[in-house]
Amino acid sequence: MRVLSVFSIVKLRLSVSEEIRSQFPIFERDIVYLDTAATAQKPKCVIEAISHFYAHEYATVHRGVYSLAQKAGARYEGVREQVRTFFSGDQVIFTRGATDAINLVATSFCQAFLEPGDEILLSAGEHHSNLVPWQMAAERFGLVLKFASLDANGDLVDFKACLTEKTRLVALPHISNTTGAIHPVEEIIALCQKRGIYTLIDGAQSAAHLPINLEKMGCDFFVASVHKLYGPTGLGFLIGKKELLEKMPPFAGGGDMIDEVDLDHSSYALPPLRFEAGTPMIAQVIGFGAALDFLQSIGMEKIAARESQLTDYLVETLSKIENIKITTNPKRRGGLVTFVVEGAHSLDVAALLDARGICVRSGHLCAQTALDQVHNASSVLRASVGIYTSEADIDRLGVALHEIALALT
Ligand code: PMP
Repeated sequence: MRVLSVFSIVKLRLSVSEEIRSQFPIFERDIVYLDTAATAQKPKCVIEAISHFYAHEYATVHRGVYSLAQKAGARYEGVREQVRTFFSGDQVIFTRGATDAINLVATSFCQAFLEPGDEILLSAGEHHSNLVPWQMAAERFGLVLKFASLDANGDLVDFKACLTEKTRLVALPHISNTTGAIHPVEEIIALCQKRGIYTLIDGAQSAAHLPINLEKMGCDFFVASVHKLYGPTGLGFLIGKKELLEKMPPFAGGGDMIDEVDLDHSSYALPPLRFEAGTPMIAQVIGFGAALDFLQSIGMEKIAARESQLTDYLVETLSKIENIKITTNPKRRGGLVTFVVEGAHSLDVAALLDARGICVRSGHLCAQTALDQVHNASSVLRASVGIYTSEADIDRLGVALHEIALALT
């Protein structure tokens, strides 16, 4: 076997990301984009698929008999099948985002399956999207919310002990958007299944970064946002078990979701259309199809391996800088690192990084309880990687932070 020199490994790494990076027009400007956990940049193929669809193929779906509408409908439904296959899921429902998908389950599933006094278990450090909808459902349906503790690195502590006779649903993030912890969801789901507890996995931070096979994972519901999957904004999805979705009432009423309509009563279509009231996000779905093709052409295993290298490099780079404190070091980390510059406010640091063309997230990261309970801060910085990130991006962040930390502290 030929042994690669350090030089050729570096070249190989660079060529991997350079080739991918060249597909993203945003990088024609000089920018270091380390905020993929918030939203991912868009490859040419996605932008072109949407623009081509609007320019040459646009019509509504599920309605017209004319061929343009029939073709648009077939493509829309084709992407639904593509999503199902990509994630090895059961039934796919298009939503406005992960938030919308969680709201759908929190409303519709709780109404159909839960009784007053039933318990829902979350973690103590949820993104607001996997907390507020359950708070609203608890109030509406008389449910009780419980919270599994996290240790100082964001790993779940003794999860099993949090399950009670009354636990009916567990809703957890696959990867936390603040700590980066990859939670052991397969283990948790298996434990829940043994006890007849339903599970929802918030895949907003994992769907674009790890290979996901929902048949193997076994959760009842999985949600994610398409804008984090290199696709357009305004679209997300819920993948759920068909037998559960069929028992759930609609989340919103309107066109497309009905079977028969009378003045005083309506009957509803079967899922997925039951949960897709109104004209759907047609062009976004077409763009999503292109994004999935793009990810598939690279391969999710390869993406996960490359991003793991980059994340290690990010941790290593930040660890070397004086006055930078990485706030959590979970056992298994997704592609993000949260940190503070000791003695400086994160918003000031983010503004100074911006002046050097470096984009990172700052603030409470839409997870105030996580910051409170785990990070011990009211405001942090977060750098996150994606398929286009290079070691050079991380080096530029490192140099800039070194200068900023010196100047501010
Ligand atoms: N859950 C997690 C873990 C997230 O990181 C996010 C987005 N930051 C969401 C849910 C919500 O996603 P969206 O705002 O796209 O609906």
